[in-house]
Amino acid sequence: MNKDQFLSRRKALLAGAAVLGAAGAAGAAQLLAADPGSPVRSAAPAAGAQANRLARKPSAYRLQPIAGYGPVRRGPAPTLVRHEPFLRVAGRGRTMVLTFDDGPDPRYTPEILRTLAAHDVHAMFFVCGEMAADNKDLVRRMADEGHVVGNHTWSHPLLTRLSRSAVHSEMERTSDVVEDACGERPVWFRAPYGAWNRAAFQIGADLGMEPLGWTVDTLDWTAPGARTIESRVMDGAAPGVVVLGHDAGGDRSQSVRALREYLPRLLDSDYRITVPRRQYT
Ligand SMILES: [Zn+2]
Repeated sequence: MNKDQFLSRRKALLAGAAVLGAAGAAGAAQLLAADPGSPVRSAAPAAGAQANRLARKPSAYRLQPIAGYGPVRRGPAPTLVRHEPFLRVAGRGRTMVLTFDDGPDPRYTPEILRTLAAHDVHAMFFVCGEMAADNKDLVRRMADEGHVVGNHTWSHPLLTRLSRSAVHSEMERTSDVVEDACGERPVWFRAPYGAWNRAAFQIGADLGMEPLGWTVDTLDWTAPGARTIESRVMDGAAPGVVVLGHDAGGDRSQSVRALREYLPRLLDSDYRITVPRRQYT
């Protein structure tokens, strides 16, 4: 590859990132942007980092356009390796995202699904592979009812203490079981405990997933009472906020009860509860 070809490839990568970065202006799709208040970099330097990585490491992405015969391959854009998770959504108006981690759990997930359906809203479920394997019907139901099923690793370990191959196994097996349950592999992942590292970002990107963190932590796993969970959500409510809750991992009856209260209150406050979409070019 000569210098010009490399530069145009790099430009294309940066242009792709700009689409994601300009999420707020896109309007139609609820794309994500990193938290502008956080001390992290925007999408553009990440794209630059990706371009550098591609330049150093030969890969199918880089070799493909060199041949020069026929059209450039079309398909999902390669997932950029990020340096931080998305922490909020960029969008117009009062948009919020509700996320539920660690499930599915047949004791709590069905009631959460029922409440979401009663209000006709969609949420994200970051499932653990070992829970999903035992409850494939619930994973299928999540997808069938329009929710986004994300990858939350197989056994909920602290990824920062694992080898790369162990991280890969934790994430890939979970994507496999989700695909088996609902026919599609997850395109979002979330590190247990929010403990991200470079391996998690790289392997997640290799597996075609974007990292999603959260803005408001309900701390529902500490069982502070349904009213407290409800007030944490209402106090934290703001445009672009991603809420973290749990539908498994212990007694989550407070989380179930709290959702029944705060969801109609959010809707009454004119929040639109939605799920993010990935942008493919
Ligand atoms: Zn978790």
